[in-house]
Amino acid sequence: MPRKQPPDQHIKRMADLLRQGATLTELACPACASPLFRFKGGGLWCEKCGKKVVVVRDGEKMSEEPALDALEKTLLAKIQQIHERIQHEDNAEELRKLGASLSELLEALERTRRTRKA
Ligand SMILES: [Zn+2]
Repeated sequence: MPRKQPPDQHIKRMADLLRQGATLTELACPACASPLFRFKGGGLWCEKCGKKVVVVRDGEKMSEEPALDALEKTLLAKIQQIHERIQHEDNAEELRKLGASLSELLEALERTRRTRKA
């Protein structure tokens, strides 16, 4: 898949969203398969598309790929864990490491979802 923009750019912004208090949801953007965020106000946001997204729930039709489902759940759980650690970490060096891990996990999550969509 050709790409003009370096992928880590929006991954970085997703990590920033988490730091700003947005919640990572289990939902994927219908347009680009990027993970969706929820703000305290309630709306769903796709950082990659840069807009609000309305997801029509299409049931749990995920189970065609049980291995990917499991992987996705694991990645989501890890992302939440790291997010929590970031919120309680004051050490700059640790924060940098956690931030890097967070980006990697977000990227892995997105890659998994693209695989599923393909
Ligand atoms: Zn999107």
